[in-house]
Amino acid sequence: MLQCTAVTDVPLAECLLALTTMEGGPDHPPGVLARDDFLLCELAEHDESAEHAAHLWTAGTPDDRDLWFLWSGSGAHRVHRLDTVPLCPARLRDLATRTVTTCAFFNRHPGPHSWAVTDPLGELIAERICQEVQRLASQDDPDEDGR
Ligand SMILES: [Zn+2]
Ligand SMILES: [Zn+2]
Repeated sequence: MLQCTAVTDVPLAECLLALTTMEGGPDHPPGVLARDDFLLCELAEHDESAEHAAHLWTAGTPDDRDLWFLWSGSGAHRVHRLDTVPLCPARLRDLATRTVTTCAFFNRHPGPHSWAVTDPLGELIAERICQEVQRLASQDDPDEDGR
């Protein structure tokens, strides 16, 4: 299942307020948003009856309520809200490797759990970084040979 491709800009003042007032929020809210000028919907592809959702902050509270930015529509027609919602309780147990994967979404999210969602954009970025690292590494080689 591919990831939803919806992107939205961030109403900074509103997000800052939510981060500042939430229980277990960050010590330095502006630092959280500086790298998030735009938010990507993290859910699997879904129809318009479901809201898009982007994770903003993992709360430092025992009951695991994270801050999410939820929206529907786009541009001038966007309707959004900020909400602290409980985590999805789903767990994927791999008996062969004895690992447990937790779902990164919120409780009662639409569509499949996070482990079933592939992020083509993220993979593309990872690929670019790999190529860049290889390029830099190959540039270093002549220097080392010369020494
Ligand atoms: Zn979406
Ligand atoms: Zn889930």
